[in-house]
Amino acid sequence: MAFPNHTRYLIIGAGIHGLSTAYHLALELKASGKGSGEDILIVDKTAIAAGASGIACGVVRNNYFQPAMRELMAHSVAVWESDPKAYSYHPVGYMQISPESMHADIASIAAQQKAIGYESVFIEGEKDSSNYMKTLFDDWQAQGITSVLHEKRGGYANNTKSMYGLAGKAEAEGVRIMTGVEVKGFKTSNDSSAITAVQTDRGDIACDYVVVAAGPWAKMVWDMLALPKTVDIKGADGNVHRDIPMWVYWSLQEGTLGVDPDIQKTNDGQFPPVVHVDSDAPLYSDVDGSLITDKMWGIYYKPDFNFGGIQGGAAPFRVETDPDQVQVDPYGADSPEFVVGDDFAHMWCSALAHCQKRFAGQIPKYKNEPSGGIGAFTPDSFPVFDVFRENCYFIADSNHGYKMIGVGKLVASEICGSTSALLEPFRYSRYVQGKLHPVSNSPFPWS
Ligand SMILES: Cc1cc2nc3c(=O)[nH]c(=O)nc-3n(C[C@H](O)[C@H](O)[C@H](O)COP(=O)(O)OP(=O)(O)OC[C@H]3O[C@@H](n4cnc5c(N)ncnc54)[C@H](O)[C@@H]3O)c2cc1C
Repeated sequence: MAFPNHTRYLIIGAGIHGLSTAYHLALELKASGKGSGEDILIVDKTAIAAGASGIACGVVRNNYFQPAMRELMAHSVAVWESDPKAYSYHPVGYMQISPESMHADIASIAAQQKAIGYESVFIEGEKDSSNYMKTLFDDWQAQGITSVLHEKRGGYANNTKSMYGLAGKAEAEGVRIMTGVEVKGFKTSNDSSAITAVQTDRGDIACDYVVVAAGPWAKMVWDMLALPKTVDIKGADGNVHRDIPMWVYWSLQEGTLGVDPDIQKTNDGQFPPVVHVDSDAPLYSDVDGSLITDKMWGIYYKPDFNFGGIQGGAAPFRVETDPDQVQVDPYGADSPEFVVGDDFAHMWCSALAHCQKRFAGQIPKYKNEPSGGIGAFTPDSFPVFDVFRENCYFIADSNHGYKMIGVGKLVASEICGSTSALLEPFRYSRYVQGKLHPVSNSPFPWS
């Protein structure tokens, strides 16, 4: 097929957000009689699922301290549930297991889940929490846990399979996906800041509307659009904090214990919910008994046949390199810099053993292959969904995003003229207006 020189809608990135936006926009255009998927072109510099969406753990949860995030996630969970087969979605549920320092935060999440009709069970108190966990896993032994929030919806999906499922749905609606095409810049109209064409390494493509869904490469495209490198943020104290960098990278720590995934079945032989444990109990090495940390730590894990074992992760770390100098490429497992090391394996496997006896002594089975990857985070670590340069919708999920399959659906309806109340709290103007999201006591930057 010839290289196109024009498209109505050009989407940069074939990850969860680019693909979901394309598919839902195609449906909206068709339903309104204003066009079809044939008006949409996705370009990706590498391949479908070449970015964060292709390496994500794939956890889908509602557990967020911020009401706006929770409502948005409930919407996305409904989209996952709408076609579990195509999306390779496993609705096994999700558990947030926490120490006393997080009790009040989690209690408010549980109350608000009830208010929005999102099914969950909330257990409080050390003894009841332990008993509840033992009804699922008879070897449960984590210390200092005083609440368990068990979300009955959510679970996880298989990263690459779900991207191909979504791409298939988009292509069936007439969307064209071109891989191996890298966006290098934008052309602007003479009399406004609107984009008239996208410059790629294979030639210019004129377009009426652009959607940026570039994941960890968001900063590069942001810079190509000449958007501000820093922002002023009005804090809760009313003071304006000036010149805060717009982007910062965090390195996500994930890996797989190469045991039979069946090992993690529940007492009644079912596949379990995704387990997320935060703890302030001292964490000791499962290898030699030495203290790993006496500070707050957290892990998540699930049995996963795609990864071939028990797959999960621990809290990420902030990349201190100047964001202009961070090497995003080669990405994921190919990165020489941002893959997990022995420290992660030691901590994560020891934490698994801290939680469940079945993992004691299993660290030699940790899969010593490159894993993990970086994400581009916004100044407050929450998404920015907004229109810039008049006709450019920028989707920057601040690394919350594999689970957010529904964002593309909402973005599609905004492109078609409506305004989404669910996306409204994520506008760029919130920084200068001080309309920030509340911050939790979780050790993770994304809870
Ligand atoms: C290790 C890891 C684990 C994670 N686990 C989870 C999880 O369990 N649950 C969860 O909800 N989230 C998780 N996340 C976060 C989630 O993966 C991301 O937020 C989400 O996938 C981002 O989707 P995206 O579509 O914006 O970007 P991506 O999936 O990264 O896709 C962006 C695409 O844009 C393309 N691209 C970039 N620049 C250009 C250009 N100039 N021209 C053309 N194409 C370009 C890239 O090739 C890429 O394919 C995880 C992230 C990481 C790194």
